[in-house]
Amino acid sequence: MQVDAAFCRIADLLGEDIQEVVTGLSSSYLRAGGEVSGATGRFGQADLRGGREIEQGIQSSSRDSSFGSPSLVAPTRLASPADIAALIGDRTLIFDFDGPVCSLFSEFTNVQVSDIMRRSIRWRFRFQRVSFPPKINREKDPFEVLRYVAKLGEDFGIAGEKKLSALEVVAARTAKPTPYAHELIRTASKSRDVVFASNNATAAVKTYLATHDLDRYASGVFGRSSHILSRLKPDRFLLEHTLSELGLSPDQVVYIGDSTTDVMAAHASGIRAIAYANKPGKLASFMPYEPEAVVDSMSVLLRAL
Ligand SMILES: [Mg+2]
Repeated sequence: MQVDAAFCRIADLLGEDIQEVVTGLSSSYLRAGGEVSGATGRFGQADLRGGREIEQGIQSSSRDSSFGSPSLVAPTRLASPADIAALIGDRTLIFDFDGPVCSLFSEFTNVQVSDIMRRSIRWRFRFQRVSFPPKINREKDPFEVLRYVAKLGEDFGIAGEKKLSALEVVAARTAKPTPYAHELIRTASKSRDVVFASNNATAAVKTYLATHDLDRYASGVFGRSSHILSRLKPDRFLLEHTLSELGLSPDQVVYIGDSTTDVMAAHASGIRAIAYANKPGKLASFMPYEPEAVVDSMSVLLRAL
């Protein structure tokens, strides 16, 4: 019932496109007992090939990591404002979006969005009798669902990415701001460029910034598109693309992210990383990846400016 309520709310916000999907699913999903079986052969092969490609991408990023001379030793404690001030200097700040700026899926949860993704793909490709393996049917992370869908073929990837983008744009309108993030963005923009680079859809990031009247402070927004699905973070592609578009060297920027994959992507690109430990236990989880600093509040960065 909770998911159905989310469907209605999202259909309200999205309009005709998802409403059509919901209407179609109401009958077909029930007829099929909530599952459409079959179709494993060629999708299974594509799955294996895609999986290897993604895995190689991650390994190659890690292997190529070449950040040679960080200004700080990898921390075993939370950074102070003075540590952060020394680290960022006058560098451009590049923010990851979901985490450092807001909690994207607040009104709608990851679980609901993942479920809607699966239902939508089943309906969109119903004549190809798509089914998901149990692990993907249980998957709570929409990105993992998208990664699986993208392995099924180009059309699947494009459709899955489009659906997730639409859901992210809806979620962006009700996303919960990260404490101190808005003030940090406004303050930082007075002394340097502030940029956003995210695995989320560019449209979702821009929607959030516009909703909170922050778009005027952004010097650039770089997000996901359907043709880079296999090169999302931790791959270095997104951050290298961002640097290229900005005309900056890795030494001129600092990346702020809340995931180990953010630190991996930053270091693979030669960029300093500030890790945002927004949940208990995250400080320890970041340690093996050696971010240049770890903070547990955006207020530490704010005080460093
Ligand atoms: Mg994040």
